Amino acid sequence: MGKKKYRIFVLVLFCLLILFQAAGADYRKERKRLVEIHIIREGIEDPLVIESMLTVPREEFVPDSLKKKAYLNQALPVGYGQTISQPYIVALMTELLGVDGDDTVLEIGTGSGYQAAVLAQIVKEVYTIEIIKPLGIKAEKRLKRLGYSNISSKIGDGYFGWEAYAPFDAIIVTAAADHIPPPLIKQLKKGGKMCIPVGQPYFTQVLKLLEKDEQGKIRIYDIIPVIFVPFTRKIQ
Ligand code: SAH
Repeated sequence: MGKKKYRIFVLVLFCLLILFQAAGADYRKERKRLVEIHIIREGIEDPLVIESMLTVPREEFVPDSLKKKAYLNQALPVGYGQTISQPYIVALMTELLGVDGDDTVLEIGTGSGYQAAVLAQIVKEVYTIEIIKPLGIKAEKRLKRLGYSNISSKIGDGYFGWEAYAPFDAIIVTAAADHIPPPLIKQLKKGGKMCIPVGQPYFTQVLKLLEKDEQGKIRIYDIIPVIFVPFTRKIQ
């Protein structure tokens, strides 16, 4: 390469770098605004959850054509008829689990991998299961690329949990089931919490918090109405 061409090459590279940095800074600004207005002002208090929501780059988990909408407080399509959940709901469910750095969490419904990433910033290990193979593979690659080394994922029907790593300190289900799967209750540690939307698909469901006390007694609380994509049983 001639000297002149080399100079132009370096200049172009430099401009690109500046452009990427500017875009990153913009997303950081948008993320901060979202967290202030739709997370903190709406009542989320756990500092670990707030910090995680300020850190995870949601724009990396949505299709390129929707990056502009990454910091709206909205669920967005991620392909195969599935969605990345609304940021406020991600924060609420994470807060309800009451987890910290010692905990191991099971997620059913990897989807884009965003909820798994939000959890991975807070806890020791995240195990996540997705029933739609191409979606699960894409999320796994994305999480690896973004450097999340404490997330393990697999393709399968999450109804049966992940026996090999059970019991879990917390379980989060991000698809709406018509009942709470008994294998998941079994795989929850004593003193653990599970968050799951329960109700009929395509209608409003109820976000439930299940607590298993130290004696193994179960209590279930209704939190708020939500709308999630359906919990299915067929591996695709
Ligand atoms: N947590 C995701 C949102 C997921 S949407 C995110 O942060 O992006 C719900 C996901 O649950 C969908 O990808 C759907 O395919 C998956 N799903 C539905 N039924 C399932 C099952 N039985 N086991 C595992 N995943 C399931």
